[in-house]
Amino acid sequence: MSVLPIAHVGNPVLRQRAEEVDDDAIHSSALQTFIDDLVETMHHANGAGIAAPQVGRSLRICVVEVRNNPRYPYFPSVPLTVMLNPVITPSTTDTFENYEGCLSVPNLRGVVERFTRAHLSYVDRSGERIAREVVGLTAGVFQHELDHLDGVLFLDRVKDPRTLTTLADFEAFHKQAFLERIVPFIEKMGS
Ligand code: ZN
Repeated sequence: MSVLPIAHVGNPVLRQRAEEVDDDAIHSSALQTFIDDLVETMHHANGAGIAAPQVGRSLRICVVEVRNNPRYPYFPSVPLTVMLNPVITPSTTDTFENYEGCLSVPNLRGVVERFTRAHLSYVDRSGERIAREVVGLTAGVFQHELDHLDGVLFLDRVKDPRTLTTLADFEAFHKQAFLERIVPFIEKMGS
């Protein structure tokens, strides 16, 4: 397994619509190794998720995992989820405001509106089709990762650029108020 270099905002690969993964390719050792490398890269960077375009591969693959994440200590746990050709559809019009960051946008966070519930379907790394509901803050993480497959960055969804903040200034000026708002939301939604 290897840690792959991460593409940063400005790299055109982050702005392309990524290609579908062929069913035939799923069991190939090249693809399975790439998935291992993607997971390794996410762990190395302490990401809550990562998408293939973020390591320069324009493929519809992304992974999410949240477990005692130092970048997002308030996050509910999400078991490692590897998604090929995922599709996400909001199942409500209700939204919440999240402070998002991204491994491809170093040292910046901003407020993004996300749906509180969504239907998620994908093929897992063994080729099995999975369909499930994602809710709460976790639903926001999945919406963020799937956006990468369509060339969308969280920056595009920041409605008020005045909410943009460095990590240090998030900690200093915004984290407390955000936690007071998001922790009850996580408790209410159960995720
Ligand atoms: Zn991202």
